[in-house]
Amino acid sequence: MKNSNDKAVHSSAIERILKNISARRRAPLALFFVILLVYLATSIFVSVIAASEATVTIAETRMNVSAFTGVFAALANICIIFMVVYYGKLGLATSLSLMLVQYPMIIVTSIKRQNISNLPGIFTNVLTLIAIIIIHYNNLKIDQYQDKLRSQAVTDRLTNLPNRFACTELVNDLVKQGEKFVVVSVDLNNFKSINDTMGHNIGNEVLVEIAERFKVAADTGLSGTFDFVSRFGGDEFSIIIRNYHSEEDVLNTVKYYESVIENRITIDSYDYFITASFGYAEFPNDGSTTDTIFSNADAAMYEVKRLNSGNHILRFTPDLLKIERTLELERKIRAALDNGTLYFNLQPQYDIDHRLRGFEALARMDDDDGNAINPGEFIPVAEKVGLIDKVDLSVFRNSAHFFGKLLRRTGADITLSVNISVRHLMKKGFLEEVENIIEKSGIPAEQLEIEITESVMIDSADKALKCINQLKNMGIKIAIDDFGTGYSSLSYLTKFPANLLKIDKSFIDKMNSSDSSKQYVAAIISIGHIMNFDVISEGVEEPEQLEALRGIGCDYIQGFVWGAPLTDVMAEELVVNSVPARV
Ligand code: C2E
Ligand code: MG
Ligand code: MG
Repeated sequence: MKNSNDKAVHSSAIERILKNISARRRAPLALFFVILLVYLATSIFVSVIAASEATVTIAETRMNVSAFTGVFAALANICIIFMVVYYGKLGLATSLSLMLVQYPMIIVTSIKRQNISNLPGIFTNVLTLIAIIIIHYNNLKIDQYQDKLRSQAVTDRLTNLPNRFACTELVNDLVKQGEKFVVVSVDLNNFKSINDTMGHNIGNEVLVEIAERFKVAADTGLSGTFDFVSRFGGDEFSIIIRNYHSEEDVLNTVKYYESVIENRITIDSYDYFITASFGYAEFPNDGSTTDTIFSNADAAMYEVKRLNSGNHILRFTPDLLKIERTLELERKIRAALDNGTLYFNLQPQYDIDHRLRGFEALARMDDDDGNAINPGEFIPVAEKVGLIDKVDLSVFRNSAHFFGKLLRRTGADITLSVNISVRHLMKKGFLEEVENIIEKSGIPAEQLEIEITESVMIDSADKALKCINQLKNMGIKIAIDDFGTGYSSLSYLTKFPANLLKIDKSFIDKMNSSDSSKQYVAAIISIGHIMNFDVISEGVEEPEQLEALRGIGCDYIQGFVWGAPLTDVMAEELVVNSVPARV
């Protein structure tokens, strides 16, 4: 796979790429020739008009043409300065040659004409010469300083590897060129424990040693591909792999870097055995922008860490994004619960004559940027990772506390509905929690309703039923949420001690599109009434839906048509200004 030619190709690959990334952009060569031409033209013009007797009239003043010699000489000097400033050595050599050529010409002309009136011109030229030499050397110093700054900007101080900025610039370029490449995200395993137990100095030495090994691997081409390694900070490194033919080449390269890390590291006669997690993503298959390719490689690397198995290398797959998002949301839910930033909104429920029945408390959580995260996204995650009982409880407690005060203030005869997950419902101690909330908030049990989602409920029917009966005995109302989505059997419904059926929005959405859909909703309402349940329709958005629901005997309405979820302050205003329904 490797030969000496390969090595030549790879030799100091990192330096070359870095140079390209940090190179100062010179002015284009074509412009140099234009300036040179302007210089030659003005110089010739100067010598022609200097000897001319001709005159011109400007603003009624007659002047000798030769009076303009100084203007054109200055223009010529500007060309010279431009060359020296923007074209470095080429500019300096050209301007020196041009100026030095002029001296013999001026001296010969003066001797021939036996006229020393050109002498001041020679002095001007000498002064210009001194000026351009000063400018050139000053420029060199600035260049050196800028080179140093540029190299610092792309180099990691501790390890001297290229840094994150350099790597991102390279990836930007590769993405622009559309070249196929792989980003490997590398994170050392348990590096924190080395820092904690052996101190930061040893930790740094380990990082420097790994960086050195990576650099050798990339520069010598021993990995078999054309690689660029960089340190992103801490114990994070990144490898860009190019010039490979197959997935196998990529895997071999990553395995090579893995073996390079895993070779024993000896510092102060102590041996360290380091391992790392490698996640990789290929452009453009696994991500088509700089950001996505990096974050997808990271997602694969985090998955390696999460799995914590013997395999330390993983390629990105789209499934990982779901896992990533779940982990991210889990972190956010935990943080919101810890910081008390999980809050609630209250969506009004009305009877069919638009009198307020009460509110449903809905969990809310904001992202770092202040935008709300959809509960349809974070509630299922909370369910999955076992945080739903904490979320339910927080919303229940806080909304009940608010609602209790509201009832005391207004005396309104309205209901607070809270969503409780079946998993939470069946947890030991749930009934005590409810009793505790009722006691602390002061809400009469009859003005409290617990919503349980139909689909989840039937899966765990018998256990849940016991608990629901106990709630019912306490006087609390029970609502079957999202009714119609869970295929409840009629015999099951008769056993169920509910007060309210909540027809799922999906049925309400369809009801005005066909007669049969409307009849389906009508049938649900009839069944609900036969079973002695009240019926509320969820997600009612259109006045036409409202009219249709009124026509088929729906008892209550919840939906944007009469009210979206409100903040507690807005809900309070609504209660103060409305006539409650008899519930
Ligand atoms: P849900 O209990 O069926 O709540 C009704 C959902 O429909 C709410 O969405 C509400 O904002 C939305 N909605 C109401 N009227 C309309 C309408 O006219 N048009 C549309 N497009 N939507 C309407 P939200 O707040 O996103 O909540 C989604 C689900 O999350 C809830 O559905 C509920 O199952 C769950 N959830 C919310 N808060 C909690 C909580 O504290 N605990 C538990 N376990 N689940 C919760
Ligand atoms: Mg609900
Ligand atoms: Mg619902």
